Amino acid sequence: MVTSSPFQQEVLIVGAGISGLSLAVALKQRGIGSVIFEATSAPGGNMRTVQLGNYRFDTGPNSLLANASTYQFLADIGAIDQLVPPAAVSKKRFILLEGKPRLLPSSPLALIFSNFFSWQTKWRILTEFFRKNKGEEKESLANFVRRRFSAEVVEKVLKPFVAGIYAGDAEALLVSEAFPQLVEYEQQYGSVLRGLVKAGAKQRRRSYSFQKGMQTLAHLLAQKVTVHYNRPVASLERTKQGFQLAFASGECLHVKKVVLALPAYQVAKLLSRAYPEMATTLAKVSYPPLCVVHTAFEKNKVGYLPNGFGLLHPPMEGTFIAGSIWSSCVFPDSCPPSEVLFTNFVGGAMFAQHAMLPQEEIVKKVVEELRRIYRITAPATVTYLTRWEKSIPQYDQHITAAKHVAATLRKEGIICHSNWVHGISLADCITASIELAKKWE
Ligand SMILES: Cc1cc2nc3c(=O)[nH]c(=O)nc-3n(C[C@H](O)[C@H](O)[C@H](O)COP(=O)(O)OP(=O)(O)OC[C@H]3O[C@@H](n4cnc5c(N)ncnc54)[C@H](O)[C@@H]3O)c2cc1C
Repeated sequence: MVTSSPFQQEVLIVGAGISGLSLAVALKQRGIGSVIFEATSAPGGNMRTVQLGNYRFDTGPNSLLANASTYQFLADIGAIDQLVPPAAVSKKRFILLEGKPRLLPSSPLALIFSNFFSWQTKWRILTEFFRKNKGEEKESLANFVRRRFSAEVVEKVLKPFVAGIYAGDAEALLVSEAFPQLVEYEQQYGSVLRGLVKAGAKQRRRSYSFQKGMQTLAHLLAQKVTVHYNRPVASLERTKQGFQLAFASGECLHVKKVVLALPAYQVAKLLSRAYPEMATTLAKVSYPPLCVVHTAFEKNKVGYLPNGFGLLHPPMEGTFIAGSIWSSCVFPDSCPPSEVLFTNFVGGAMFAQHAMLPQEEIVKKVVEELRRIYRITAPATVTYLTRWEKSIPQYDQHITAAKHVAATLRKEGIICHSNWVHGISLADCITASIELAKKWE
């Protein structure tokens, strides 16, 4: 069946993740109507919360780091009374070194007086202000940090952080794509640290979750706009007037312009006939597999009681878990008060094979490792595994070409609006939506 679009006055958006939803809301704030078609039965995409009795598991993002404009957006949608800031103790971050959690120094004084880094590295960090070396084009994030700071910083801190943020490999991600502000600081101020100090003074950011978890944000946004669920789009063909969008149900819509708020591999699928070459480039964007394993234990059976945001495991430690958020410290209402809840990450770009093991094996290895590190003397009270076969887009050598494709498609009326284009954090997605809505023609 072919129908002409009943939504001609409205912007058509495919995908109800944070990118699609926040764009629809930002357009509405400017008096522009839209309609979203979503493949699944719920809003949020990666943003998912599971409530299991007294346990709350955020199986995708755990928090949103809001700057002033993101905060204003949340205020405008009436989300302020639903915001939950993390507990104060979350400022403390830990790194696993020689099998034991060690506090990461968070101030220059702490850096000098702790023995977290060697004296050589402390000297390299403190003299970064004056370093004048230059990087090559397409420099990896790891090379950049080695050059500005030291190899020890890369191995102990950068690699586990990048695994935590991107599920990525710092040796493969491009600094100019993954953290362009670092390159800017080097170019503008001659020093990353000087740039960080100046930027920190200009822009304060705060991290939040929401009452009943992160998916609350998706529901709040979805209530404000029109979303059609269970409507997967199967293909997009070119016509004389614009495009024909075909749904899996066989129904078609004719449109002049469309927003694809979808992962790169999904866009590749939709465009495989109309734009085969561009589809091939998009299909190369890598999304490594990642498992999120929630586990709780009785507090009085835990020898080393977590007290901070969480523990990152540097790859050189050779552990199965890449890192854990100490969820019950950060958001104390996420489990019964007598228990400790860990959100553990397994796999990612560096250890993809770990994430593809059978579920029971992953859970068993995670529980065993936690029991060893935290000296836990009883089995887990609850375990819950979520496998993301395709987790987070990698800003590596393939992303630059994919972004060029996005720019070309835009001229044709196909707007790619998702985390592989504008940045992976929830705040990046919201900021990009606000900007796109401002310029909408
Ligand atoms: C495990 C994990 C932890 C993370 N932690 C954090 C964190 O703590 N903080 C943070 O800021 N960010 C975090 N991120 C990143 C962040 O969650 C994502 O970058 C962001 O949610 C992506 O949103 P999106 O709308 O661009 O894409 P998606 O969330 O992927 O949304 C795409 C939507 O399109 C739909 N769709 C797909 N194909 C079709 C089709 N053919 N037709 C119709 N609809 C379709 C999908 O069902 C989905 O709803 C995390 C990501 C993961 C995976």
